[in-house]
Amino acid sequence: MWDEDGNAYIDYVCSWGALILGSAHPKVVAAVRASVIRGTSYGAPTRREIELANLIIDAVPSIEKVRFVNSGTEATMSALRVARACTKRDRILKFEGCYHGHSDSLLVKGGSGMATVATPDSAGVTKGATSDTIVAPYNDLDSVKRIFEEHPDEIAGIIVEPIAANMGLVPPKPNFLQGLREITKRFGSLLIFDEVITGFRASIGGVQKIYDIQPDITCLGKIIGGGLPVGAYGGADEFMQLVAPTGPVYQAGTLSGNPLATSAGIATLREVKKHGFYEKLEKTSARLRDGIAEAAKEAHVNVQLNQVGSMLGIFFTNEPVIDYTSAKSSNTETYTAVFNSMLEQGVYLPPSAFETIFLSAAHTQRDIAKTLTAAAVAFRHVGGRGS
Ligand code: PMP
Repeated sequence: MWDEDGNAYIDYVCSWGALILGSAHPKVVAAVRASVIRGTSYGAPTRREIELANLIIDAVPSIEKVRFVNSGTEATMSALRVARACTKRDRILKFEGCYHGHSDSLLVKGGSGMATVATPDSAGVTKGATSDTIVAPYNDLDSVKRIFEEHPDEIAGIIVEPIAANMGLVPPKPNFLQGLREITKRFGSLLIFDEVITGFRASIGGVQKIYDIQPDITCLGKIIGGGLPVGAYGGADEFMQLVAPTGPVYQAGTLSGNPLATSAGIATLREVKKHGFYEKLEKTSARLRDGIAEAAKEAHVNVQLNQVGSMLGIFFTNEPVIDYTSAKSSNTETYTAVFNSMLEQGVYLPPSAFETIFLSAAHTQRDIAKTLTAAAVAFRHVGGRGS
């Protein structure tokens, strides 16, 4: 990535995870070029929208039918609407440190930029808008059980990042997702997996494929648009038929499923489907993780590294990071110092301690080696500060 002054960076933000192929991948650029000369939007579906929908349905186990929107925010907002319509209940349960976009009812105890600036609730959101949102600690099934026992007929659904990637990276404990599936079934609630980051990132079928769990609704975004604005939500026909025009849940969008975004998405998904794509990415990522661990050890910097596939979380703390509380024990001053030192050396890490590092297929072994050299310098600079 080059900035306006012509400085080059190795980019680990990757458009917040959207660019799994890296910037300006030739196949994506060609697809968008071919598409744009035929018009940018029609107000009617196109062959490409159907093709992308089919690629998603084939890959993501729980999706039988999918609706395109323009962002992850729209996808989660609409998924809640379906859950509420389906159950005729109002309340939603979310987890501390999970971010689901910026719709009003979900702007409670989110992670990411909100975690850094320590304003878990946004100005401009009314109490009424969040009064039906219940928050539980991530990875804490007992709390979830307790909440459902206290409100047995009130909760329309649980929304969860099945691997949390907005408080740094926090994987689920072994039985957490299975437990959520069982509890939601028992209490007649819907389980919504927000796979806006993890869809086509954790694996071709997302986290649900890795853990073999079928959520009722899945939200997607980022990678399925190949770097253009996109979002999607889908699930079994039984839920999706509730959405207009077949059902009573209103949701629409002028540019939803437009041919530019769907062309970029198709080109991207065709690449990630190629044999060995994820294995290679995983290997590169593991090398980065191991190298960072080594550099930190040498410089006596306390660090916890959580990695799943091409996602990596760096926390400057002694304690294992399993939820929002432990994530927040990370020393953000150390992170900022490391971020700035790396930036000066031409490595662009996420600018918040609570964002995830993303790798792409464009990262080479040489990039990793350069990054590790920069990390060694950065860690020596903060050495001994740790947590
Ligand atoms: N869900 C998750 C898990 C996300 O990480 C994000 C954005 N980072 C969103 C939803 C919202 O997506 P968008 O920014 O496209 O609205």
